Amino acid sequence: MLTVEDLSAAHGPVRALDGVHLTVEAGAITAVLGANGAGKTTLLRTISGLVPPRGGTVHFDGDDITGWPPDRVVRRGLAHVPENGGVITELTVAENLRLGGLWRSSAQRRAAHEHVLALFPPLASRLRRRADTLSGGERQMLAIGRALMSGPRALVLDEPSLGLAPLVTRRILDLLRELRMTVLLVEQNARGALSVATRGYVLELGRVVADAPAADLLADDRLRHAYLGF
Ligand code: ATP
Repeated sequence: MLTVEDLSAAHGPVRALDGVHLTVEAGAITAVLGANGAGKTTLLRTISGLVPPRGGTVHFDGDDITGWPPDRVVRRGLAHVPENGGVITELTVAENLRLGGLWRSSAQRRAAHEHVLALFPPLASRLRRRADTLSGGERQMLAIGRALMSGPRALVLDEPSLGLAPLVTRRILDLLRELRMTVLLVEQNARGALSVATRGYVLELGRVVADAPAADLLADDRLRHAYLGF
């Protein structure tokens, strides 16, 4: 569904991605793990059109989307939930949700809105509240809900567990699994991510150093100690 081949990207002189290959299967969660600075955020941002690639390709659902601008990538069905969620704290929950699907027809928006509120009931009772009154977990639900408002066929998520308590992290990861969507999930919380993913990739210094079914990564003591920190 999403295939990355030989992808490279840089921030000025810093080579952040160096020939990354990755495949995300339809309907499953694929995790990208690795230490700070490994290149995880750059990978997601390059896939979503927010960082221009220096080389390589990104294919999504039959299209070569390499280097497409972000709005075109979203309209094609790949939505990005950035680190910290990117919700606009001065706006209400309803306004943030609306932003996720501005270009869609009002019927499509209404249907997506109902769908999101059914998935995340805490948002339904807080529609008129400003986003900065939400708890960390609710804010992450809003970030995911806003991405769903665009009617995506796949989601890329950057560290949804960042700053959340362990129980709240568990809830968010379980919700992701319940979506039954194609998801590319970047996480520093490797153990949590691998508990919901079917496959995992480990990045180090912009390169893939391991790629295996999640259960195999969890069972590999050497790899867990060397790269995953647990
Ligand atoms: P983190 O978990 O800390 O977000 P990461 O695995 O997501 O780490 P990236 O943020 O993709 O890693 O960073 C990869 C490399 O690129 C690092 O060396 C980082 O310092 C560098 N980098 C990232 N963004 C920029 C930027 N805007 N300008 C310069 N260098 C950057």
